[in-house]
Amino acid sequence: MSKFLLELDKVSKRFAGTVAVDDVSLSVSEGEFVTFLGPSGSGKTTTLMMIAGFLKLSSGRIMLAGKPLDPLPPYNRNIGMVFQHYALFPHMTVEKNIAFPLEMRKTARDDVKKRVADVLQLVGLPQHGARYPKQLSGGQQQRVALARAMVFQPRILLMDEPLGALDKKLREQMQIEIMRLHRDLGITILYVTHDQEEALVMSERIAVFNDGGLEQVDSPNELYENPRSRFVADFVGETNFLEGRVVSLDAGVAAIEGGGVFAGRAGDDLAAGAQATVAIRPERLQVCRKGETPVQGHSSVDGAVSDIVYLGRSRKYIARLDSGEELVALVQANVRGLDEIEIGSRVTFSWHPNDAKVLGEKSDGKS
Ligand code: ATP
Repeated sequence: MSKFLLELDKVSKRFAGTVAVDDVSLSVSEGEFVTFLGPSGSGKTTTLMMIAGFLKLSSGRIMLAGKPLDPLPPYNRNIGMVFQHYALFPHMTVEKNIAFPLEMRKTARDDVKKRVADVLQLVGLPQHGARYPKQLSGGQQQRVALARAMVFQPRILLMDEPLGALDKKLREQMQIEIMRLHRDLGITILYVTHDQEEALVMSERIAVFNDGGLEQVDSPNELYENPRSRFVADFVGETNFLEGRVVSLDAGVAAIEGGGVFAGRAGDDLAAGAQATVAIRPERLQVCRKGETPVQGHSSVDGAVSDIVYLGRSRKYIARLDSGEELVALVQANVRGLDEIEIGSRVTFSWHPNDAKVLGEKSDGKS
């Protein structure tokens, strides 16, 4: 018996002329919350649809609890699904909508009643059973869709951009509710989004899709701190990049020479002399005014401020470096002395090597 609930083994999907999903392998444990994150057209929905059984694989296989899923039609897979557009039946009441999957499965009438009431309670709509979908707000409709997907206690819940149609505030509230349901019920969730913040907030692991393939699968923290490719560093959070050639590799620290000599934690595929990129998060940069010296051991670059963006609690300083590149630093607003910096001011941005990551040429991503 496999220790994983769901296994995708070299799964591909080709449509005429397009490879939508390219050799994707992924194992998901029981109770995990895994998010598919990637730009539009990167293969997230197609992968989900193959798991749900709405699309046939071109090659590879999918196993649920150690058994091949491929021979099973969607309604026998024990998988619940929630879409961006609620897909509720408009002519049925909320109760009837939620009861539908149970009736399809010929559940006893008393049991249906009880389960519908329980799940309505769970999604916070105990009083809304008799309403029709059009009498509900967008957020409430999505809760009903969630209730309908959960009522038959599926082993896996697939959610495709479920909050995409909601405004920001409601989205954040629903994110917390879905996380709570996941925690309380221990249900396995596969969640699709192209919103990296949503993925970072909600997931235990994130599978980053790029051009049909999986770029990296890791915890939010690991993805953010240790992106394995430029694509991931760029897509998950904001990142600055500086290009150069590797001049030294020592004890996990790489130095590259470009518009200066810059150090960072060495990625896997670096070789002395090869082209490489240093990736540095804006919040890891320190800003020194003219005449101030960066901390000893820091790498640094000089430039002139081209823009200042006020964000309330923090500020963004954008500098045009003497080498011509642009770098963004994010600084807490209470850091002293920053008021004196204005557009045109000379500045030095510096960072500790541990706060940057050096990525090799092969980690450029596919696109
Ligand atoms: P989005 O976030 O926009 O939904 P996605 O990552 O979910 O994007 P998919 O919908 O899986 O991406 O699409 C992956 C690729 O497959 C795209 O290039 C898309 O045009 C193509 N594709 C999807 N469905 C079909 C189809 N039925 N016929 C032909 N090509 C398709």
